Amino acid sequence: MKNKDFNNLWSKSLMSNYAVPSITLVKGKGSIVFDADGKKYIDMLGGIATNILGHSHPSVVAAVTKQIKTLSHVSNFYSHPKVIELAQILIGLTGDKDSRVFFAQSGAEVNEAAIKLSRKTGRTRIVATTGSFHGRTMGSLSLTGQSSKRTPFLPLLKNVKHVPFGDIKKAKRAINSRTAMVIVEPIMGEAGVIVPPADYLKQLREACTTHGALLVIDAVQTGMGRTGQWFGHEYSGIAPDAITVAKGLGAGLPLAALIAVGKSSQLFEPGDHGSTFGGNPVTTAASVAAIKWIEKNKILAKCKADYKYIYSSLHAVPGVREVRGAGLLIGISLDKENSYLVARKLQEKGVLVNAANPNTIRIAPALTIPRKELAMFVKMFKEVIADVH
Ligand SMILES: *Cc1c(COP(=O)(O)O)cnc(C)c1O
Repeated sequence: MKNKDFNNLWSKSLMSNYAVPSITLVKGKGSIVFDADGKKYIDMLGGIATNILGHSHPSVVAAVTKQIKTLSHVSNFYSHPKVIELAQILIGLTGDKDSRVFFAQSGAEVNEAAIKLSRKTGRTRIVATTGSFHGRTMGSLSLTGQSSKRTPFLPLLKNVKHVPFGDIKKAKRAINSRTAMVIVEPIMGEAGVIVPPADYLKQLREACTTHGALLVIDAVQTGMGRTGQWFGHEYSGIAPDAITVAKGLGAGLPLAALIAVGKSSQLFEPGDHGSTFGGNPVTTAASVAAIKWIEKNKILAKCKADYKYIYSSLHAVPGVREVRGAGLLIGISLDKENSYLVARKLQEKGVLVNAANPNTIRIAPALTIPRKELAMFVKMFKEVIADVH
């Protein structure tokens, strides 16, 4: 079967909530993937920031294979070694040994869990930011600051106030002694890789501390090393009350975590929350293997160097307005509103990127992507921009 055949079958069998994909991917290794017609691509999107070690990485394949042959699923009535190993690793990454972890499968679910955690403070009000993306289930959609996604599904949760991202004055005006939590992305990913002012998180932390509100960092997209730090807020020096991670956590497998830091880790009591598959042995085994590999091979430092390389290669190219982000979460904003055309032309040339909005190309490849492939991306990007500019 070819791309064309799969496309027809997609329309006949999958719901129309997604645009019909133009290609069907059938195999991959590292940051190279192949479609059903046998065409080769550089995968600069990494399954939207999920495949932190790329496709079929030997350490993930080995960990998953070993685990599925040993024990596949146990539910939360029983413990197993990998869920504990991963929880301890994540606690270590927060730097606070009083942290505690809740596992689920997706970003939306762990943001839902954060909403429930915040309810246990006895308060119900939430402050989130305009343009943010926190998920599409009814609770997480209530946090998401994009009216196009919200409007068809009103009414959503009451008492969620959206304030402009990066505007500390407006945030401070909204946060008060009735605020249960403030949720914020360190860098807004879906919105087009939007970076806040350098002291924004620190000031949000101060406002939350003053009023006793939880500060929740949504690190679903920035997490697991992507920005050259483990979660993406560390540069600010703050300690959040909770962190949510998902996308990259399972190295391509569905795994998410709500990590409650400090006192907030004591808010949930038995029976307050749960997830049948949360902390599954196979997905946690994949995650443990990936994190160890990243640590051993100093991938966080590599991501920082990769950002410098992409920035210096592209920021002065005619047609490019700005290169922004951190590590391997990068938004390339264009002078013209032609990002969809640029993305399509790149795909024709064998490069997969995402047009996050009409003038921004987003890349979030495997953290392990070799410099040679980044250089290929730079070359093709320059050709396409010269062509359309
Ligand atoms: C993708 C994303 C989510 C939602 O994750 P799902 O796994 O799709 O539910 C939440 N927050 C951020 C910042 C994201 O990028």
